[in-house]
Amino acid sequence: MYDNIEEFLQSRDHNLTLIRYSYLEIKKITHGFNDKLGEGGYGSVYKGKLRSGRFTAVKILRKEKANGHDFINEVATIGRIHHCNVVQLIGFSVEGSKRALIYEFMPNGSLEKYIFSRQGSVPLSNQKIYEISLGVAHGIEYLHEGCDMQILHFDIKSHNILLDKNFTPKVSDFGLAKLYPTNNSVVSLTMARGTIGYMAPELFYKSIGGISYKADVYSFGMLLMEMVGRRKNLNALADHSSQMYFPSWIYDQVNEGRDILEDQVTEQEKNTIKKMTIVALWCIQLKPIDRPSMHRVVQMLEADIESLQMPPKPFLVPQQTSNDDRINMANPTSSRDPSNVCSIDSSYQFSR
Ligand code: ADP
Ligand code: MG
Repeated sequence: MYDNIEEFLQSRDHNLTLIRYSYLEIKKITHGFNDKLGEGGYGSVYKGKLRSGRFTAVKILRKEKANGHDFINEVATIGRIHHCNVVQLIGFSVEGSKRALIYEFMPNGSLEKYIFSRQGSVPLSNQKIYEISLGVAHGIEYLHEGCDMQILHFDIKSHNILLDKNFTPKVSDFGLAKLYPTNNSVVSLTMARGTIGYMAPELFYKSIGGISYKADVYSFGMLLMEMVGRRKNLNALADHSSQMYFPSWIYDQVNEGRDILEDQVTEQEKNTIKKMTIVALWCIQLKPIDRPSMHRVVQMLEADIESLQMPPKPFLVPQQTSNDDRINMANPTSSRDPSNVCSIDSSYQFSR
């Protein structure tokens, strides 16, 4: 593994703005790992402070993820790019089996805690939710079309959208990301990857179409749906199938001219939410070819509502599961909750 990583670090041009830290420095930066920010499938994240006074988030990758792929993925992708809607990697540390990634610190944490409102968290205004969605769209558009390589993220979801002090969104967590030459439209993947509830159907069913940047577009659509509804798209507890799949319910609301928001909101807010809904419905079209590019998504989000057309009704109806853990079908034991993996195939069915 060390050889892999060292070889990688030596062989590629990373626009070497990244700083390499020793493990001892990492310990100092995090004050002995005493302020834990979060825990994910690939390791724990701690708050830290650099000598310059700048705050950082330090991700310590778990040792048992021994092949070093997630580390290399992150360094190879966000290590070489800069965009205001992509989280900035500042540096890294590799020492024996100890691997760490150092990012700019995002004081407002991840988006999911504002969508699935918990007690104590301040609700975001509809305008702010819209601005966040536009920022995320810009970030993904940049990954797909703005760099010398095309970067496919494969794990777009609210947990992986971090918010800075002004609630500017940053796409984060590139552990599953892949780099491709920009001329390559369809890519080969040796395994399905992503998180249930956000994963594009072509990752499960080859017959739907090839795997491309449109898989991220799908996940973005599901994220947009959640932002509009401020809820999970799958609700295993609902007893009516129409309630069970939120995108299907909301399609009917918009299509029949009903209001989506029940609260007292302005006409402008209603339009903004409706616009986000229509864009989301385009993004979650079953066939990749029917989904827009992220460039088009940005255009639609910025356009007047009158200029947008309703897409056909999306007709993939997920059933049963409300789990949303990241999965890895080639290597199910690496998922956080192996019980998920068994339910993937049976949990999706096509209805028409
Ligand atoms: P994993 O891939 O293991 O899930 P993440 O990178 O998503 O790891 O991080 C897990 C959690 O740590 C996030 O949900 C977030 O709460 C926190 N976190 C990660 N990066 C940062 C950061 N740059 N600033 C602040 N908090 C962060
Ligand atoms: Mg994550």
